[in-house]
Amino acid sequence: MKAFAVMGGTFDPVHNGHLQIAREAGEQLGLEKVILIPSREPPHRSAPERSPKQRLAMLKLAVQGLTTLEVDDRELHRSGPSFTVDTLASLRQEAGPDTSISMLLGLDAFTLLPSWHRWEEVRALVNVVVLDRPGPNHLSQLLNDLIVERHQRPEDLVNVPCGKVTRIRTTQLNVSSTLVREALAAGRAVDNLLPVAVLDYIRRHQLYE
Ligand code: ATP
Repeated sequence: MKAFAVMGGTFDPVHNGHLQIAREAGEQLGLEKVILIPSREPPHRSAPERSPKQRLAMLKLAVQGLTTLEVDDRELHRSGPSFTVDTLASLRQEAGPDTSISMLLGLDAFTLLPSWHRWEEVRALVNVVVLDRPGPNHLSQLLNDLIVERHQRPEDLVNVPCGKVTRIRTTQLNVSSTLVREALAAGRAVDNLLPVAVLDYIRRHQLYE
């Protein structure tokens, strides 16, 4: 594979915001695939209440029929905190040095990048693609500088294996897993926020009641 992207998250549950940005980023950047990678034990937040198995099952249902999206469960098999840098290193090793690998990050996730375990190593492994997201959008000087110094036009990213940063505009869907969890717990309708197959699974397993 010549160029692909990865998007990590807790996916508790996966929602249309995730799917929309993953598909649009894939199209805009001209990628063959976008791989969604659920985190087993996110280092930055409390462990998701739904099990790895349940979150993986929802993701697999969500990408059914979407040919450019894939799910990779490698983080679910590792013990300890799910450090993204370990995941990226294993993907790089498999793909070889010439493949363009990009990591998609919503703006909120990008602001946390400097606090990641061994974050300085990330640039030697992948490109970073920042996706706008509704909500606060202030970036620190450090991250602004990173975007300017490492900037690459989105359409050229497929030709660069790693080390570049770009920011792209995708359709802004103001949905989050938190919003979906709260709506489900309160018995509000969520039919337009996530795929019907995922909602069926949630209802069958009474996941967020
Ligand atoms: P939670 O509400 O539980 O924090 P979340 O909706 O932010 O969850 P995550 O699984 O934590 O979802 O996010 C995975 C990735 O998807 C992150 O990079 C996040 O920024 C991005 N993301 C999630 N929803 C959106 C959205 N609506 N628009 C843009 N990016 C998004």
